[in-house]
Amino acid sequence: MTDKQTVLVTGASGYIASWLVRFLLESNQIVHATVRSLSKQDKIKHLLDLQKKYPGQLHLFEADLLQAGSFKLAMKACTVVMHTASPFKIDVNDAQKELVQPALEGTRNVLEEISNCPSVTRVVLTSSVAAINGDNYDLKTKAISQLDESHWNTTSSLKHQPYSYSKTVAEKEAWRLQKEQNRWDLVVINPSFVMGPSLTNRVDGQSTQFMLDLLKGKLAIGAPDLHFGYVDVRDVAKAHIQAMLVKEASGRHILCQNTYSIVQVAAIIQQLYPKRFNLPARQLPKWMLYLVGPFIKMSWKSVSRNIGHPLDYNNSKSIKHLQINYKAIETTMKDHVQQLFDSNLISA
Ligand code: NDP
Repeated sequence: MTDKQTVLVTGASGYIASWLVRFLLESNQIVHATVRSLSKQDKIKHLLDLQKKYPGQLHLFEADLLQAGSFKLAMKACTVVMHTASPFKIDVNDAQKELVQPALEGTRNVLEEISNCPSVTRVVLTSSVAAINGDNYDLKTKAISQLDESHWNTTSSLKHQPYSYSKTVAEKEAWRLQKEQNRWDLVVINPSFVMGPSLTNRVDGQSTQFMLDLLKGKLAIGAPDLHFGYVDVRDVAKAHIQAMLVKEASGRHILCQNTYSIVQVAAIIQQLYPKRFNLPARQLPKWMLYLVGPFIKMSWKSVSRNIGHPLDYNNSKSIKHLQINYKAIETTMKDHVQQLFDSNLISA
């Protein structure tokens, strides 16, 4: 694979994909970027700015995950397909329609289109650690202390952790389609919770929402003892590019700087910005979570299987094979808060 590629990036207006497009342009690649609507200027302004900054390198196309044939034009002449588009929402009314259908059918629509596009030789898929495990309790069930790329989420469903379910079925479908042919290979990126500065002022993404809720004091009385893996958005974008450039790259790659409880994350921000925000300093007892769970859209099952349960991911494959040099969590948090100040989404 030569260093200069024409790369399709789906969902290019998203939080992660925006950094990905920027880094691809900076490394002199040609980018075919799909967005749901070219008329939604607020969502694509940063892409139009990048188009001006890198003349002739960025081409924008409209495409919808649910429309068969939607990605045909954008895929033409591409050697690499980076499929990032997929809804990331936790609070949904109809999980099948809002999550599973776009994730699964979208993966099919994008990957099946490759059969009409002989130039494509590699697909990089944005999956998630949500396809590795569904609940933190899964480690106990498996009697392990750390999750790695050999593990699959077997506990999520349409009713329980439906977002994680959507990511699991979509990644499985990608592997199934890849194995049906031998022209293109598949490299999967499985990020943990992604934080760090956004290139846009959008606040509808889960990563930005989480940070805003924390900084605006939503958890000031206390936070659930909930552990997530965290990774910087710029490291996630770089991992996608490495997945494209490293010829030998194969299989799945967990991306996780480390795991932290919400109170630990709050303590890091507190150190960086002393007394600036109303951050949670203590953990809420689990019994209280059972009481308030239904009001914060957390089911009893989710409380029982996640609160107070440790979590750990093995990130060694990403370091060894994709040469990821993880940013410190302090850098991630500092830059994220600064971006929110700069975008006037929190007041200085
Ligand atoms: P965003 O919500 O910012 O981006 C999601 C993208 O998917 C948007 O560009 C959105 O388009 C697009 N999309 C959603 N539905 C459709 C559809 N029907 N047709 C076309 N495009 C659609 O989320 P992130 O950047 O955070 O997530 C990107 C990917 O990374 C997802 O696959 C997500 O599952 C995965 N991921 C995210 C993590 C995180 O912590 N943020 C962690 C692990 C994985 P539009 O701009 O029009 O809304």
